[in-house]
Amino acid sequence: MKLLVIGEARDGELRNVTFEAVAAAKRIDSDAEIVGVLCGSNDLSEAGQEVIYHGADRVVTVTHDNLKAYTSEGYSQAVMAVIEDESPDGIVMGHTAIGKDLTPKLAAKLETGLISDTTDIENDGDKAVFIRPIYSGKAFEKKVITSGLTFVTIRPNNIPALERDDSLSGEVTAKEVDIKDIKTVIKDVIRKASEGVDLSEANVIIAGGRGVKSAEGFEPLHELADVLGGAVGASRGACDAEYCDYSLQIGQTGKVVTPDLYIAVGISGAIQHLAGMSNSKVIVAINKDPEANIFNVADYGIVGDVFEVIPKLTDELKQT
Ligand code: FAD
Repeated sequence: MKLLVIGEARDGELRNVTFEAVAAAKRIDSDAEIVGVLCGSNDLSEAGQEVIYHGADRVVTVTHDNLKAYTSEGYSQAVMAVIEDESPDGIVMGHTAIGKDLTPKLAAKLETGLISDTTDIENDGDKAVFIRPIYSGKAFEKKVITSGLTFVTIRPNNIPALERDDSLSGEVTAKEVDIKDIKTVIKDVIRKASEGVDLSEANVIIAGGRGVKSAEGFEPLHELADVLGGAVGASRGACDAEYCDYSLQIGQTGKVVTPDLYIAVGISGAIQHLAGMSNSKVIVAINKDPEANIFNVADYGIVGDVFEVIPKLTDELKQT
């Protein structure tokens, strides 16, 4: 079996989900040949080597000026050319903004299947079983591939990457593809939030809700996030109230996150919010209402006022 893994970089750095996708490919078939695919406008040989250190057998890179920023036209031409060359049995990618855009487009073009937002892969005899949440995370379904090339996207932070092993070796080859007819011109990329840690890959998230009361009320959350090396997120309630930018929104219509630690601060726990965070490994809820629904999904709950609890928690953690 041959599996392609489409990698992703941000600001020249490979995103961790690339390595997680390699680990996912290994789970699909531990004997499969795993071929990484990287697209961009600069030399990708070092990045390619990094993908090999994380378990890929070899890497194909496509560089072109028209691949500087992601466009579905540009990347689909590049990846399609590699697919035509390699004739893989399956293709794995992160369930990221790019993965969600690119994989359905390619799957439709190739008239093939797509299993999206996979959170786990098990093995049932010789078949890989893909597990993915449905109904806003209330249930999980199991899928198997019965025939043909299939795309699989994996939710970031769910399938751990393999440990980097510098002794692994493989070839990084450059493929020439003429990327043309690009109708979308990216003039600038403006990042509004998550200056430090990327929300979708953060191991620790401190999320504020309407209970935080104001934009200034978010300041202590940023301080706590700095102490824990985490990122700040928000409920839609907080975004609607203009306490923070919509790029921080977590939930059904926001980002889906799976950090090791999720601290929900002044968030009631509406089903649409839970859809984006209930798979977090450890959930801590801070809310003054003991009946708040968020406590039903929390591993640890603190009934109290945000403005008293957060500074105390931050001070305590600073001592450790
Ligand atoms: P509230 O529900 O108002 O809760 C505020 C909480 O803060 C309360 O529990 C209160 O007890 C507590 N509180 C108040 N003061 C304090 C204090 N001083 N100390 C401690 N606790 C305090 N929501 C999302 O989050 N993400 C989504 O992606 C999303 N998508 C949606 C999609 C659709 C189609 C719809 C209809 C809704 C969606 N929503 C989403 C909105 C969702 O239904 C809720 O309205 C929203 O999550 C509520 O935000 P909240 O918990 O911050 O506010």
